Amino acid sequence: MSQDGLFEKVLIANRGEIALRIHRACREMGIKTVAVHSTADADAMHVRLADESVCIGPPAAKESYLNIPSILSAAAITGADAIHPGIGFMAENAQFAQMVIEHGFAWIGPTPEHIRIMGDKVTAKKTVIELGLPCVPGSDGPVKDFEDAAAVADRIGYPILIKAAAGGGGKGMKVAWNRDQLREAYQLARGEARAAFGNDQVYIEKYLANPRHIEIQLLGDHHGNVVHFGERDCSIQRRHQKVVEEAPSPALNAAERQQIGDLAASVAQRLGYRGVGTMEFLYEDGNFYFIEMNTRLQIEHTISEMITGVDLVREQIKVATGAPLGFGQKDIPFNGHSIECRINAEHPETFAPSPGKVTRYHAPGGLGVRVDSALYDGYRIPPHYDSMIAKLIVHGNTRNECLMRLRRALEEFVIEGVDTSIPLHQKIIAEPDFINGDYDIKWMEEWMKRRQGS
Ligand code: ADP
Repeated sequence: MSQDGLFEKVLIANRGEIALRIHRACREMGIKTVAVHSTADADAMHVRLADESVCIGPPAAKESYLNIPSILSAAAITGADAIHPGIGFMAENAQFAQMVIEHGFAWIGPTPEHIRIMGDKVTAKKTVIELGLPCVPGSDGPVKDFEDAAAVADRIGYPILIKAAAGGGGKGMKVAWNRDQLREAYQLARGEARAAFGNDQVYIEKYLANPRHIEIQLLGDHHGNVVHFGERDCSIQRRHQKVVEEAPSPALNAAERQQIGDLAASVAQRLGYRGVGTMEFLYEDGNFYFIEMNTRLQIEHTISEMITGVDLVREQIKVATGAPLGFGQKDIPFNGHSIECRINAEHPETFAPSPGKVTRYHAPGGLGVRVDSALYDGYRIPPHYDSMIAKLIVHGNTRNECLMRLRRALEEFVIEGVDTSIPLHQKIIAEPDFINGDYDIKWMEEWMKRRQGS
């Protein structure tokens, strides 16, 4: 650590735009950075910009970005004093967090225990129910067998949703509308969960008809202080994956906003939570239902930054040193509106991945426009990783100003050589439902069906 108590050198155990995002925060704090990369990412932007870089393995993530001995060795040989896991890969791996700490590095994240509790969704729900958070009605824990599942479904009423205890990314989730469907869905969900997570425990929730996805951004320090940064509405989803996010949510009024923000922060405080984290809720008919907590930075943290002016990665790094939060809830201003579009290298209609060389790149700019991307002219998007290549984030004083600015920025954005989802975003934001803020988590898939039909 340096004299002012900050880290001197942080190893960023990730790639792409999020590695760059973390590098930028470190740079502005005067902290040196170490990039780690696979052989497929030797030319990546975060590698070029970092103070040092270490190749940690071949393209397959299993052998590089998920390779614990390689990452720890890279930290040791470069003399890093902390490791930032970014998003995905090792970010919610409690065992990795534990090893990082045991090897004498600081872990820029919550305690391994909190990662473990929230990583098992059954334990997570139990824990937060005890602390007073409302959850979707469902089984008390994992269901034992089909008969148990059927009994729970009869009690709460169909339709129901089967979810994997170790779930993530929408995998292992199956809807059943009646007992016959439940029989098949139960087997399918268990098989999928076993294949994806090596754990076939599943639990049951009431399947809500038309909820919105509302999440609360939290930040806690090592001294028992927790604040929230308001909510994000992430209801524009395809296959349970977020596509567009906005803050604040057009669906909440001021009283609801304050109620859910304060409730989430007080639960996190009683948990002793430290670092950044997000509690996710479904919201229907004025009620909130907790579904999970992500114990890491989220892709869409950006829109909360835009409306509060707080650099969440900087604060995340600061609290990881043990420093107290330098501000309280009342010091966090909420200004205007922000929307983020996740831009993927994929066909805008078929969603087929489109890796390859970016032959021309021009990012939009101007007041209130932010692009978080690791792309550049001539960059070759490798086929081995997630297809998200850029986040376009805009801010406006009002939602309408924000929408007009987003439309303008999407028009300016040039990415040639690969297919991108920019045209898809242009269509979504032109829809009257979106303009009116009138959408829920089913909206996008229903909209796509309507378009295919017409
Ligand atoms: P994962 O961790 O796999 O992403 P989540 O529990 O976060 O799973 O849920 C992902 C998405 O699935 C939610 O944003 C929502 O769209 C949908 N979903 C989850 N639970 C329910 C439910 N009980 N009823 C309806 N939709 C749900």
